[in-house]
Amino acid sequence: MKTIALALWMMGTAGASQPAADDPLTRPMAVERAKEWLAPQPPERIFGKSWLVGFGGLSVALIDTVDGLVLIDGALPQAVPMILANVRAAGFDPKDIKYILSTEPHYDHGGGLAALARDTGATVIASARGAEGLRAGAMAADDPQLAYGGTWPAVERLRVMADGEVLAMGDTQITAHATPGHTMGSMSWSWKACEAGTCKTIVFASSLNPVSADGYRYLSAAGKPFVAGFEQSYRKMDAIPCDILISAHPDNAGAGRFNDKPGACRAYADRSRGLLAKRLDRERK
Ligand SMILES: [Zn+2]
Repeated sequence: MKTIALALWMMGTAGASQPAADDPLTRPMAVERAKEWLAPQPPERIFGKSWLVGFGGLSVALIDTVDGLVLIDGALPQAVPMILANVRAAGFDPKDIKYILSTEPHYDHGGGLAALARDTGATVIASARGAEGLRAGAMAADDPQLAYGGTWPAVERLRVMADGEVLAMGDTQITAHATPGHTMGSMSWSWKACEAGTCKTIVFASSLNPVSADGYRYLSAAGKPFVAGFEQSYRKMDAIPCDILISAHPDNAGAGRFNDKPGACRAYADRSRGLLAKRLDRERK
């Protein structure tokens, strides 16, 4: 299986790199870290019927629910042909993708959603605030990174899920966990993956790092809800059942493409806690 997936992947990525006619939804965004974020990776099965179909620096997950496929996150617009090639290389038909779950309304995780939704027919699911940003293809007015600017292809077909709500599909239940802080619309997702009678809970965590444009203050009135959001998200990550952690940027999870060490989600929260504490200390000086 692994050999076939790898051979298909090599064929698929060769095809995906052919220059295509200009497509506004996959037109490359010229961002500094695009090459590092989109470092090609073959599809990798994590556990049960859950896969990674993304990149070295941006995670994209695929769940086979028996009753259709669910994708999590869409990376950059130009990533879409490679994501679809990886879905095929893993042995699936992109047309079976029914939903695409979003972790945050930023171009590096949401930029490819419009093209993925168009090419697969899937509906994108996000939090209320996440959906607002994806519908606009732009950062929210209160986003700490707003001054960086930048827009991405807007998503038309969106469904909103609330904190704690469950998406039931086939043999899989995927729970939405509001994890605000990095953006107010950030959402993490968890589900049980099973194989040979053993089930593990996989958590696909949104970015939890305090990143802002220059001059922004988390200690300002505008920043307060973000600090409160981070604290709420840390408590959630401390308590969530978590056998395997996938983080939206894999390098934040501390171990390759995913982290299956005990306490991976707590460690993920701790890392962000440390970064936020340092950041607030700097602002106090
Ligand atoms: Zn972000």
